[in-house]
Amino acid sequence: MFLEQMPDVRSPRQVEIVRVKPGKPLRMILTGDTIRIMTHWYRGKTFPCLKAALGRCPLCQLGVNQRYYAYYAIRSLDGKPRMLELTSTAEARLVECFKVCPSGSVMYVLVSREHGKRNNPITVSAEYRDCSPEDVAHANRITLDRNLMKRSLTHLWNLPPWNESDNLQTYYAIVENHIKEVISGNV
Ligand SMILES: [Zn+2]
Repeated sequence: MFLEQMPDVRSPRQVEIVRVKPGKPLRMILTGDTIRIMTHWYRGKTFPCLKAALGRCPLCQLGVNQRYYAYYAIRSLDGKPRMLELTSTAEARLVECFKVCPSGSVMYVLVSREHGKRNNPITVSAEYRDCSPEDVAHANRITLDRNLMKRSLTHLWNLPPWNESDNLQTYYAIVENHIKEVISGNV
């Protein structure tokens, strides 16, 4: 009850990343930021594509296909902030839902994937409810920080750790070396 020291109230090191699983629909609201990224699937793992950042990418050079993913800051119904992973097709559907969202409404997003294969297409639909300015203010307060989102992805993909104080170009070069090590079989 009575603490001897101040508790650790720094922001968490990472947040959970949610992928839509077959037969497990999810309902959520979007809370703001989005990270969009080209990736490569190589030796059973995801790696970021470095082409846009560095003008070169070891996995593009190897001829490994690119895959696009978008990561949306969300709050699921249990109230916890998380990130939702969407494919380009699912994101395009989400954008359509946005376009018809009446002003002054909050959009509840429902994502699902049919039973069966892990990579079945994601279905996206939305419900619109009237909301008060207080609701909007509350949703904005729980928006994830972009740096936290980036850090969570580097953690998810087992990349070298990244902190917001690190220069991004320097970090990309570190990731490039890491990917080269993976390609050469040293990692
Ligand atoms: Zn690449």
